[in-house]
Amino acid sequence: MSKSILILPGDGIGPEIVDEAVKVLACLRSDFGLDVDLDEALVGGAAYDVTGHPLPDATLDLAREADAILLGAVGGPKWEPLDYSVRPERGLLGLRAELGLFANLRPAILYPQLAEASTLKPEVVAGLDIMIVRELTGGIYFGQPRGVRTLETGEREGFNTLVYRESEIDRIVRVAMDIAKKRNRRVCSVDKANVLECTELWRQVATQVGKDYPEVELSHMYVDNASMQLVRAPKQFDVLVTTNMFGDILSDCAAMLTGSIGMLPSASLDANGKGMYEPIHGSAPDIAGKGVANPLATILSVAMLLRYSLDEGVLAERLEGAVEAVLNKGMRTPDIHSPGTQGVGTREMGDAVVEALRSA
Ligand code: NAD
Repeated sequence: MSKSILILPGDGIGPEIVDEAVKVLACLRSDFGLDVDLDEALVGGAAYDVTGHPLPDATLDLAREADAILLGAVGGPKWEPLDYSVRPERGLLGLRAELGLFANLRPAILYPQLAEASTLKPEVVAGLDIMIVRELTGGIYFGQPRGVRTLETGEREGFNTLVYRESEIDRIVRVAMDIAKKRNRRVCSVDKANVLECTELWRQVATQVGKDYPEVELSHMYVDNASMQLVRAPKQFDVLVTTNMFGDILSDCAAMLTGSIGMLPSASLDANGKGMYEPIHGSAPDIAGKGVANPLATILSVAMLLRYSLDEGVLAERLEGAVEAVLNKGMRTPDIHSPGTQGVGTREMGDAVVEALRSA
């Protein structure tokens, strides 16, 4: 039976990079027998402009029905003056929450061809391959109560709540353990158990879950140390698992180790393998419409979609191989350009991946 993929281009460079990913999906369909139907809908600022809401009901309904979702990016200066409740980013948070996408997988891989792009010394990052597993639907980004109140003194006070149930910690640590079993069998759980009771519980539950995975080596690290270790000696890590906010920050840090935000995909999964796939970068308003955005993070998100939601691991590897082949040819969008390589735009990069797929 054919699987359905919902395409959500979003804002800024979103539509440009998603076009290239759709080209790749069309090639996988026509040349490799991938049995998928594609549907498209509005999200983010683009949806707000048309419907007055960043996550219209029609989009949410299609997202619920789909087997997987491919998203470009949302947001931009145009929508910054809006109330938080209708900001483009609310569309994303809404999708994650409504679909129960609690596990965010963010690989940080340094392609040897791009070693020069990292701001760290090549020997520190060469061969880097980390998987960050971030809890995505709980913690301080969703905890209640939250808000800004005015005290009796007239001074305003902002407050948010960090909250995790045992079951929420248990399921995300299990995701990390299962992934580690297919990698180098090491998981580092990151918390701030010396200061925050909530993450003391996180450490206790992670330790308990770890007992079910004797083949995986589980360690614990405070988040401040983890951020330092990520830039000092990142190759010590295999899989990192952590809370929503710590994961948000650490995964951006890990992404920059690889030199280009335009290269890194991500997956957000529910308990049944349904997922939303998107590049880790934002809508890059500074380069939107110029035809220079790097589409590889979105194309590599398609590879993750194939692997995690469609059980098409062989096609996923083939697509990742096509991306490597294009890099080997020296083709580079401006964000990963270096002397002696061939400068290309968004469309040329997408076309090159399709050609490499066909000739592999
Ligand atoms: P950003 O990731 O959009 O851009 C940061 C820098 O990286 C910019 O210089 C941009 O040109 C560059 N860049 C990003 N993607 C690129 C690509 N594919 N190719 C080449 N260069 C690329 O982050 P920002 O500037 O902080 O945010 C811009 C907007 O995106 C904001 O409205 C923000 O809220 C939103 N945002 C959305 C998401 C998402 O949709 N998941 C994530 C982060 C930020």
